[in-house]
Amino acid sequence: MENKNRVRFAPSPTGSMHIGNVRNALYDFLFAKKNNGEFLLRIEDTDQDRYAPGSIEQIYEVLKWLGLDWHGEPIIQSTRLELYKKNAEELVKNGHAYYCFCSKERLEEVRKDQEAKKLPSCYDRHCRNLSEEEIANNLESRTPFVIRLKVPESGIIEFEDVIKGKVSFDLKTIDDQVLLKSDGFPTYHLASVTDDNEMKISHVIRSEEWLPSTPKHLLLYKFFGWEPPRFVHLPMILGSDKSKLSKRHGATSVAEFKEQGYLPEALINFIAFLGWNPGDEREIFSLDELVDAFSLDKVHKAPAVFNMEKLDWLNGHYIRQKSLDELARLCLPYLEKAKLIKPTGEDYNLIDNNETVNLDYIKSAIALEQERMKKLSEVADLTKFFFQNELDYPAELLIWKKSNLEEAAVNLKALNEFLSGLTEANFTKEILETKVKQFIQTEQKGIGDFLWPLRVALTGEKASPGPFEVAHVLGQEKTLKRINDAINKIKKNA
Ligand code: GLU
Repeated sequence: MENKNRVRFAPSPTGSMHIGNVRNALYDFLFAKKNNGEFLLRIEDTDQDRYAPGSIEQIYEVLKWLGLDWHGEPIIQSTRLELYKKNAEELVKNGHAYYCFCSKERLEEVRKDQEAKKLPSCYDRHCRNLSEEEIANNLESRTPFVIRLKVPESGIIEFEDVIKGKVSFDLKTIDDQVLLKSDGFPTYHLASVTDDNEMKISHVIRSEEWLPSTPKHLLLYKFFGWEPPRFVHLPMILGSDKSKLSKRHGATSVAEFKEQGYLPEALINFIAFLGWNPGDEREIFSLDELVDAFSLDKVHKAPAVFNMEKLDWLNGHYIRQKSLDELARLCLPYLEKAKLIKPTGEDYNLIDNNETVNLDYIKSAIALEQERMKKLSEVADLTKFFFQNELDYPAELLIWKKSNLEEAAVNLKALNEFLSGLTEANFTKEILETKVKQFIQTEQKGIGDFLWPLRVALTGEKASPGPFEVAHVLGQEKTLKRINDAINKIKKNA
């Protein structure tokens, strides 16, 4: 039995895949999976001037990374030129399209004239009524031509959009659209309608910016005598300032989000909500759960607003869900890029002092930040003190509240002595915590008087995980060295 629900994602390889493209692909995918249909891929590469090398590969890569697998081989429009040409000529034969021999210069004059008269710019239909003889002469003398759609002079074209409801256009406002260009390539309109028909697409799901093209497409369906698909125009995506989402709002390309360390699960979950929600309070959805919950009747008419904090929150959630093994695997490239570590055989070398550490050490460092991390790229900044030999911080940071540097030095010395007396086996978070707290009690000072300078000595940071868990990961030797470094720093400062 033929599959009735067939949708396609039809990107143009003219640049990087952005959030809007992915939302389109995702809704196609969800609709197909939910309705036992097929999700197809079509590369709309008929605009040779706008082709950006590498962008077809990027389309495949992004879809695979996100888990949006398509059905069968992608359709590549530039390999189907004969088909579009045949269709354009068929329309000419049937009187629904015509050859236009106007030169670029003439079209430019028409445009300028319309501009001066404050008229909307459109083709003045100069070639619409050329005689058979004029056409034959022009063809014979090889005058370059395009083929244009013969839009009826009056009438209304109406259709029922799945999201927007009834939409109508006055044919008077519609230009005699070029269908086949002088280089033999079709325009988007001809290629899109030809292929949607060939591919038996049941639902054309695309963003609202394509709405003005739809009446032209409907005319084409009518003139070819084909049954049109259902049209589904998705709402716009706006930035936080309510203007159309663009570069100004920060990253919009998926490659950039990936590089910053957003997980595919988080992007999918986030993008699904740009124009849709399940109608209840749930916010966390895997791709499979989205398939279950998705329906076009819950897609919004109103524009969606891109909220970066929400994306960060979701990403943090998915980072916390990761096993430590998996998280470490994802974080390693960021630590290497930040020039903190480099791989050496099974292990890693600290770039700072060439010391060798094993993967377990790196994992324990990452484990301490898993709760806080919002993006993988933050890992370098959050954990760098585990991989640096000399920590760079001002001595004053060691001062607890109203205390002073001398006091910090005295307390650090006392701690150093105490910690030197412990065994390496005592260096677990729990044992250290119990023992150091007991020790502080005997000193009869405040907890912060010891633990603040200790934590700063170990991390060099204003904020970080607590001193006991850090000391556990560093081990006894490094812990003692760092306390000594801090004492020396104070001495130098005096
Ligand atoms: N190639 C168009 C785009 O880049 C496709 C529009 C459509 O889906 O019809 O968005």
